[in-house]
Amino acid sequence: MSHIHAASSETATQLADRLKERGMRMTPQRMSVMAAVTQLVHATPDQVAEAVPEVDLTTVYRTLETLEHIGLLAHTHLGHGAASYRLAGDDHIHVVCHRCSSVIDAPAGLVEQLANTLQKERGFILDKSHFTVFGTCADCAAGGTHD
Ligand SMILES: [Zn+2]
Ligand SMILES: [Zn+2]
Ligand SMILES: [Zn+2]
Repeated sequence: MSHIHAASSETATQLADRLKERGMRMTPQRMSVMAAVTQLVHATPDQVAEAVPEVDLTTVYRTLETLEHIGLLAHTHLGHGAASYRLAGDDHIHVVCHRCSSVIDAPAGLVEQLANTLQKERGFILDKSHFTVFGTCADCAAGGTHD
């Protein structure tokens, strides 16, 4: 399963269409925030604000929530801090190294068995794309540098 992020012209069209469906306007701020998340792949509100200095942090927060609400973005938790936003519909799980904080995107199919078992035995529906697994990456486990 590949991890391909939409090209920015596609993203712009998709964004405009989604907003229009809901009677919302396409604004330069919404476009900038969407472009920043696309480029950063995973981005906290602070990282987005840093990438789009023309948009203030409050607007960044509000815009991220709006874009998630209309289904264009999704968020996950890659650590103890703020949530990280990414493009929705790109279903994958995150594997994060405790030591060096590297983030690895892994196919959601890896947790298929867990998802099936939870559903069968407990009727629990796993939100796979919200999933982050923590551990130690190969480099760190091999005794690589850690700070
Ligand atoms: Zn969450
Ligand atoms: Zn590591
Ligand atoms: Zn990811």
